[in-house]
Amino acid sequence: MSEFGVLHWIVFAAIVYVVFIAARGIFGAKNGAEMVCLDCGTQARAVRRTKGSIAIEILLWLCFLVPGMIYSIWRLTTRTWACPACGSERLVPPHTPAAKRMLQQQASTPT
Ligand SMILES: [Zn+2]
Repeated sequence: MSEFGVLHWIVFAAIVYVVFIAARGIFGAKNGAEMVCLDCGTQARAVRRTKGSIAIEILLWLCFLVPGMIYSIWRLTTRTWACPACGSERLVPPHTPAAKRMLQQQASTPT
């Protein structure tokens, strides 16, 4: 029974960790720094984007504990900043040459 005790503590610690990270993600800053999107030229605050689906995550947690945990960790570790307009991950700070070029190009092209 003592071996099961250790396993339970590991699972418990993993759950606490995932809940902590998730809570930080939910209650933490939703918007990042002002960025320029290299795909659509939008200059706005980046938004957090999490890969995968919350429905699959819940399903995995309810059916199989370990895959659910792995899926949660994968989702949390692959979170990225994305463009609020087109969802692209190709974001650069506004002061960079690439961003300036993009903004100039956009200003000269009539929409
Ligand atoms: Zn964009």
